[in-house]
Amino acid sequence: MPQDCVFCRIVRGELPAEVVHREDGLLAIRDINPVARTHVLVIPDRHIADLRELSAGDADLWWQLTQAASRVAADLGHADGYRFFVSVGPGGGQTVFHLHVHVLGGAMTRLPQ
Ligand code: AMP
Ligand code: ZN
Repeated sequence: MPQDCVFCRIVRGELPAEVVHREDGLLAIRDINPVARTHVLVIPDRHIADLRELSAGDADLWWQLTQAASRVAADLGHADGYRFFVSVGPGGGQTVFHLHVHVLGGAMTRLPQ
């Protein structure tokens, strides 16, 4: 597990975060720079640089991330739906190279950078 990865450090409890959900294998935290009323990141505990690193053996993990996203959105008042996106690589706007899913609830106040 990379020592200097921000999300690995949050997973290990070395950096503070507002955790809204935790289960075996992942956690969900509030984004520090939200672009909607609800902006949560669902983060697998395991360090995976980006979506392209997932393999067929990670199908259950991907399913778990999507289920957690729906559950967190509903728990935070967005049972009617939410936005779900993943930045993939520098060209896709990714800035933290530990896989994470953005869960946005409510109108977006600006576009992600
Ligand atoms: P991405 O562009 O998909 O890599 O998004 C990374 C997201 O992580 C951005 O929306 C940042 O605001 C957010 N972020 C970076 N550092 C932290 C942190 N320490 N706690 C919570 N969110 C963070
Ligand atoms: Zn990491």
